[in-house]
Amino acid sequence: MSARYDAIVVGGGLAGVAAAVAVAKAGLNTLHLAPKGPPDRRTSALMGPSVDYLRSAGLIDRPADIGHPLTQIRIIDATDRLIRAPETLFDSSDAGLPAFGWNFPNIKLLEAFETARSRLANLETREVALSGIERTTDSWQLTLADGELVEAPLVVGSDGKKSLVRVATDFRAREHGFTQAALVCDLELARPLGGASVEFHYEQGPFTLVPAGGSRANLVWIDDREVLKAAQAAGPEGLRTTFLAKSQRLFGDIQLLTPAHMFLLSTLTVQRAGMNGIVLAGEAAHAFPPIGAQGLNLGLRDVADLAAALAAADRSQPSWAIAVSEDYSRRRADDLERTGGMVDTLFRSLLSDYLPAQALRAGGLWALRLLPPLRKQAFGLGMGER
Ligand SMILES: Cc1cc2nc3c(=O)[nH]c(=O)nc-3n(C[C@H](O)[C@H](O)[C@H](O)COP(=O)(O)OP(=O)(O)OC[C@H]3O[C@@H](n4cnc5c(N)ncnc54)[C@H](O)[C@@H]3O)c2cc1C
Repeated sequence: MSARYDAIVVGGGLAGVAAAVAVAKAGLNTLHLAPKGPPDRRTSALMGPSVDYLRSAGLIDRPADIGHPLTQIRIIDATDRLIRAPETLFDSSDAGLPAFGWNFPNIKLLEAFETARSRLANLETREVALSGIERTTDSWQLTLADGELVEAPLVVGSDGKKSLVRVATDFRAREHGFTQAALVCDLELARPLGGASVEFHYEQGPFTLVPAGGSRANLVWIDDREVLKAAQAAGPEGLRTTFLAKSQRLFGDIQLLTPAHMFLLSTLTVQRAGMNGIVLAGEAAHAFPPIGAQGLNLGLRDVADLAAALAAADRSQPSWAIAVSEDYSRRRADDLERTGGMVDTLFRSLLSDYLPAQALRAGGLWALRLLPPLRKQAFGLGMGER
C-alpha cells in the first residue's frame, strides 16, 4: 500500500520550495520530494512584483536582510557593428519606483524559503528523488528512488529543465540548445556599481555586472561556449585580464572572489503548463537564456497562479485536481507565451549579424531613451506586469 497525500511537489530548487509552501498553505496535505543538490552559486535579480509576492507568501521577511536593491540599468553597446545602439540608462525613478527590484544570492533565498517550509505542519519533506510516475484510476502513483510508493491526485513538477514529471506524463515541449553558455562568478570592483546593473553588449552576448552590495558585483557573461571554456582554462589571472578588458576598465581594478561556473543555455517551452492533475512550475515548464532576468521571476508567477487556482478550487469534487491543473494552465498561458517570446526576440536581436535586426535593436533603444511613455511600457513588460 502506498502512502497517500493530497499533493506531491517534486524538486527542491527555488520554484519547488516556493510551490511546496504555496500548496501546503492552501491547506493540502503535502509531500515535498527535494533531494539535496550542489549549492546554487547564482544570484537572482527579482523585480518588484516578485519581491512583493515573496513577502506576501511569507517566503522572505525583509528583502534588505538578504539582497541588494537595483535602481538603475545601464546598457553599453560594445560591439564593432555598423549600426550601434546609444548608451542607455534606465532609472527606477523614471518609473516612479524606489528600485526596479532586488538582487539576491540563490543560496540565501533557498535558506529563507526552507525556513518558511519548516513552519508548516501539513508539509512533509523527503530528500529523495522521484524515479517513476504512473496514472491510477483517480490519482498519480510515484515511485521514489528508495523504492517506496506514494500517491496523490495533484502532482507539481518543479524538477527543472529535464523534468521527469513532464517527460513521463506526456507534456509536449519545444527545446532549442544554443552554442552560447553563461559564466558566473563574484567580483570585487575598485569602483562600486552603486545600485546599477551594467550590461556591456558584445556580438556573442552580454557581459553583465549586477550589484551585490558595497564594491561587490555578480558577473553573468554570455558568450560562445568555447570562448568561455578557454577563458576559464586561463585560470584566475587570465580571467581577471579578460574581465578588465570586457568591462572597459570602467570600474577600475577587478578581483575574483569565487571560482567561475558555467551554465549551458537553451530554451524550453511547453504547449500547456497543466493537465490531468499535473502542474509544471519553474524550469520544468520554461527555460531561456538569462537575458532581462526573467527565469525565476516567471517561476514565482507560476507559483502565485498555482496558489490562485487552489484557492478557487472546489475540493469536494472528485476530480478537483484535474480542474486545478486545467485552471492553472489557462491562467499561465498568456504570461508564458509573452515572456518566452520577449526573451527569445531580445536574445536573437542581440546576437544577430543581420543588419535590419541590428538597426531595429538600435532604433528600439533610441526610442526607449527618448520616449518616456514607451519606456514606462517597457518597464512594465520587463517587470512582468499583467
Ligand atoms: C546564469 C544564470 C543567471 C540567472 N539569473 C536570473 C536572474 O537574475 N533572475 C531570474 O529571475 N532568473 C535568473 N535565472 C534563471 C533562474 O536561475 C531559474 O529560473 C531558476 O533557478 C529555476 O529554478 P527551478 O526550481 O525551476 O529549477 P532548478 O533550480 O533546476 O531546480 C530543479 C530541482 O529539481 C530537482 N530534481 C531534478 N530531478 C528530480 C527528480 N527526479 N526527483 C526529485 N527532484 C528532482 C533538482 O535536484 C533541483 O533541485 C538565471 C539562470 C542562469 C543560468
